Amino acid sequence: MSEFAAMKNQNFGTLAIHGGQEPDPSTGAVMPPIYQTSTYVQTAPGQHKGYEYSRTLNPTRHALEKALASIELGSHGLAFGSGLAAVDACMKLLKPGDEVISCSDLYGGTYRQFVKIYEPFGIQFHFVDMDSSEQVASLVNERTAMIWVETPTNPMLNVIDIPAMATIAQAADALLVVDNTFATPYLQQPLTLGADIVLHSATKYLGGHSDVVLGALVVKNDDLAARLAFIQNATGAICGPMDSFLVLRGIKTLHVRMDRHMSNAKALVAHLNEHPAVEKVFYPGLESHPGHALATRQMRGYGGMISFVVKGDNHEDAVSVVSALKVFTLAESLGGVESLAGHPASMTHASIPKAQREATGVTDGLIRLSVGIEDIQDLLHDVDSSLSVLL
Ligand SMILES: *Cc1c(COP(=O)(O)O)cnc(C)c1O
Repeated sequence: MSEFAAMKNQNFGTLAIHGGQEPDPSTGAVMPPIYQTSTYVQTAPGQHKGYEYSRTLNPTRHALEKALASIELGSHGLAFGSGLAAVDACMKLLKPGDEVISCSDLYGGTYRQFVKIYEPFGIQFHFVDMDSSEQVASLVNERTAMIWVETPTNPMLNVIDIPAMATIAQAADALLVVDNTFATPYLQQPLTLGADIVLHSATKYLGGHSDVVLGALVVKNDDLAARLAFIQNATGAICGPMDSFLVLRGIKTLHVRMDRHMSNAKALVAHLNEHPAVEKVFYPGLESHPGHALATRQMRGYGGMISFVVKGDNHEDAVSVVSALKVFTLAESLGGVESLAGHPASMTHASIPKAQREATGVTDGLIRLSVGIEDIQDLLHDVDSSLSVLL
């Protein structure tokens, strides 16, 4: 058995720390050094140690790419300068005339790239509610080249059935891409559920400390890996060695952080659900959540993201609540150790037209929380005192 195959049999926490990692061969350094170099000596023309030029391959990025493949149970990882650069690399697998079926409740930046960059290049996107597999299947035709899934979705935390989408994609001979940013591989491993490509904004939970912007793809097929590696090298949207190092370090504590994100989220959800100033709470861990049973089937836990609507569902009240928070920081992004709060309608989802945004549930009174790993008493107190402005 190869070392990599042996690794696959290990439990997640061990994989997160050791997966794809060996001590640095030249020095024995336990952590992969930050190889801040653009080029590598050749002993004779074309003779080198596997590294020629850092756009193509850099040892620190390579270590990260191996770690990514390992935690997603894939065969190849590819790291990019941002999550959206990873989205862009997937789009470059397509050609004019191709069609993509995507979930409608999508990260705003992904939606913007699809519509503003790739639609003018002749790719057609269908945005659908993926609760219904029949509706997705009815859109399939001979031009369908990709099915794009984000689950749980941002910010409504809808859960999409990955195996059901994989069945449709296979029948259509289309690629299934799953953006696994919200769940992380600790909670959900899409390649084992039939996905062809897993995408991450490693800026979020994988990095975990709000100190780096980086994107990743993981695949399990050699041919697809080669096509994506070609795109990565030919179009050049790579991440640097320092950023690779930061994400590599973040991955080592992913499972420990996720457990705390989830226990804090669970306590906050229970509290918000009973709160008189809250109209509705969205969290896949709630039994009343429409995706609860599905989440229980395809995920190990329900994650650290919560959305809720303030009583009356209006813009001013939501803004005054997020502005009154003190431990939760008002900021875009998610997945860091610190708790963040956002008002999607005016922040992350401002680029989506209002009618379309509201049709997917992103109303003016919606607040999104990325629950951090602080002490739960302080988070509960913070949410309580800011909601009290509405009572
Ligand atoms: C943030 C995010 C992205 C984009 O990633 P960047 O690293 O910001 O480019 C894509 N998908 C999801 C679900 C995200 O949250």
